Amino acid sequence: MTSGTTPDVADSALSTVEAYQAAILSAITPLAPASLELAAAEGCVLAEDVTAAVALPPFDNSSMDGYAVYAADVGGAAADSPATLRVTGEIAAGDIGAHRLAPGTAMRIMTGARLPAGADAVVPVEWTDDDDARVAIYRPAERGNAVRYAGGDAAEGETLLTAGTRMRPMQIAVAASAGRTAVSVRPRPRVVVLSTGDELTEPGTPLVPGRIWDSNSYMIAAAAREAGAVASRRAGVPDDPKGVLPALEEQLAHADLLITTGGVSMGGEHDVVKAALRKLGTVTFRKVAMQPGMPQGFGVIGQGRGGGLGGAGAKRGVPIFTLPGNPVSAYVSFQMFVRPALAALQGASDLSLPSVRATLTGPVRSPSGRRSYLRGVLDGTKVTPLSGQGSHQIAYLGRANALIIVPEWETQLPANDTVDVLILP
Ligand code: AMP
Ligand code: MG
Repeated sequence: MTSGTTPDVADSALSTVEAYQAAILSAITPLAPASLELAAAEGCVLAEDVTAAVALPPFDNSSMDGYAVYAADVGGAAADSPATLRVTGEIAAGDIGAHRLAPGTAMRIMTGARLPAGADAVVPVEWTDDDDARVAIYRPAERGNAVRYAGGDAAEGETLLTAGTRMRPMQIAVAASAGRTAVSVRPRPRVVVLSTGDELTEPGTPLVPGRIWDSNSYMIAAAAREAGAVASRRAGVPDDPKGVLPALEEQLAHADLLITTGGVSMGGEHDVVKAALRKLGTVTFRKVAMQPGMPQGFGVIGQGRGGGLGGAGAKRGVPIFTLPGNPVSAYVSFQMFVRPALAALQGASDLSLPSVRATLTGPVRSPSGRRSYLRGVLDGTKVTPLSGQGSHQIAYLGRANALIIVPEWETQLPANDTVDVLILP
């Protein structure tokens, strides 16, 4: 429990996952929108609706290479009695000429080319003898055959994308098709990850007994990027209470959200993050009824851009998460709590990981009163729990693609039970 420090309510009462998530989200407001060029807006969340500047498609055009015709002229065409029409011209995609088709004639037309006035159907080249002068057509074409009508995809002025939509490649294409060069989006949150611990050594530096390579700062920065942030790491903050606040202070000006790992266990003089931040009074430490990831801390520090530490009355500071040091705990905590916060900063609606129902291929255990997030391998509708479920077991985490949820009220589930499974990004 809380040896060495004064126990407080937040430390001794267990929060549910949902209550803790709600407390976090109530403290987050989306970042101010900015107008970004399409390439830069990729992956960001729209802060405005995007409407079609023109109808899509903007003009009637052909969906195939073939011949523009009057459907009535080819109504009786058959393999043994083809309709034969004089070919009076050719229209390529991009041709802006004012073509008009005379009844009883045909014009060669390419995919995407504007339909000549009068024509009401396109005969695919495969239904013809492909002749340039007089084309023989072997099959009838109905009115509208192979024609893409103006506005058939969207009407002029129609809303194509709504605020809150993430600009994935498809949406970038929609915005470009709507004539936009830039869109108003929430910028990617700037995240700084600080790993704490005297035992941490930078990968690339030889290990001495008693030390480990820092993996958390790489992992959490990568997870933040995956969740739409721009992330950097400030690795290896020493276990010195006097060093933690200056390290955080240094990053405040560059961050929309701060994440620390380590130094927040259930009490003890080496829990430097907890010791340093508790003094500010704006960060709350609590135990969440989950495994892994029971000790959690969240709050707001500084005063936003240019602010300093200790702004208890600050209007808007920088949200900070203090994640547990064990890598699996840090990872699961990130996905459950930081990911929704990053989504909220971006004004996104997709706050949590997608989940599916799946059948356990083996039994699982879970502590009473806590929700377990077990590492598993999801394959179709079956999920296999991994044998290594220790919160230090990063190698097993690396084999997982899903988290198996075991509810608070279950202590074991047999094989073939159905469970909720979170799909890892
Ligand atoms: P702590 O929360 O600081 O007590 O750390 C809990 C466990 O996580 C200890 O075994 C640490 O060595 C380990 N740990 C803490 N930080 C990291 C890190 N950045 N990378 C890998 N393991 C870590
Ligand atoms: Mg530590």
